[in-house]
Amino acid sequence: RAKKAGPGTVCFFEQADDRSSRERKALRADLAGAIARNELFLVFQPFLDLGTNRITGFEALLRWHHPSRGLVPPSEFIPVAEETGLIHEIGEWVIRRACATLADWPEDIRVAVNFSAAQFHNTAILQTIVQALAEARIAPHRLEIEITESMLLSKYGSAATVLNALLELGVTLALDDFGTGFSSLTYLRKLPFSRIKIDQSFIRDMLVQPDCAAIVKSVISLARDLRIGAVAEGVETADQLEYLRQISCDEVQGYLISRPVAADGVMALLETKKYRAIYAA
Ligand code: C2E
Ligand code: MG
Ligand code: MG
Ligand code: MG
Repeated sequence: RAKKAGPGTVCFFEQADDRSSRERKALRADLAGAIARNELFLVFQPFLDLGTNRITGFEALLRWHHPSRGLVPPSEFIPVAEETGLIHEIGEWVIRRACATLADWPEDIRVAVNFSAAQFHNTAILQTIVQALAEARIAPHRLEIEITESMLLSKYGSAATVLNALLELGVTLALDDFGTGFSSLTYLRKLPFSRIKIDQSFIRDMLVQPDCAAIVKSVISLARDLRIGAVAEGVETADQLEYLRQISCDEVQGYLISRPVAADGVMALLETKKYRAIYAA
């Protein structure tokens, strides 16, 4: 095909490749200094318990304020961090920041932190977590680690050391983006998850696709039988929330309840009575 199209076409693709690899290189170089320059910060998105209509915790989501590009989404810079190994330093920063922030919140509120696969292959993270919990005087069960099934797919054996040490500490585990990977059920058997987070793609389609509703219902009933929590991700409409309430989903998260907020917005969210008033059945 390249021959037919002539050298010009080949050249075009090469140029595009060069450009994206140059972009990546630049992003890499910038990300290396991002922590030192104070460009990373966390935002927090609440979990709402549908039984009590109260906020039970927040997921910490990483943000990078790049000096010239502005806000770079995690979908762009986390892969770069993973490729370069910077994910270890960044991941440790996220843990310390999340724990320090949690120290100011009420004791019945938890924080959930997302982990990349690579973080399970470096035992140094354990020391960081122990230290961060001690310094912030936080009970370990208030820290939840979110992992995806795809991250456990490869090299489960070496991840198990860190995972088991975390569980021994009393840190809890949530299975993120449930339904998008391949071996969910296997890992539900292998690991004592506290929660299953149903991926937002299922929540988005459940009211328009009966098959999708069937899947969401089944996952919620599976979670109930396993005696673990079910969390619906990406709840955007009141109809979705109402349906999830009907089928006894434990917790919801999404723009309808709140977008992720800065750390100094968390107390205000906790104090608002809005949740009782608007979302009570
Ligand atoms: P995730 O852990 O599944 O996080 C949920 C994502 O959905 C977040 O995107 C959140 O802002 C977004 N979201 C929440 N509610 C809604 C909604 O109602 N509608 C829609 N359309 N989206 C919603 P975000 O913050 O861009 O993060 C994307 C992904 O980046 C996360 O997916 C997580 O996998 C990863 N990530 C974020 N922070 C970290 C981190 O500190 N470490 C690692 N390793 N990964 C992170
Ligand atoms: Mg998550
Ligand atoms: Mg998710
Ligand atoms: Mg996701």
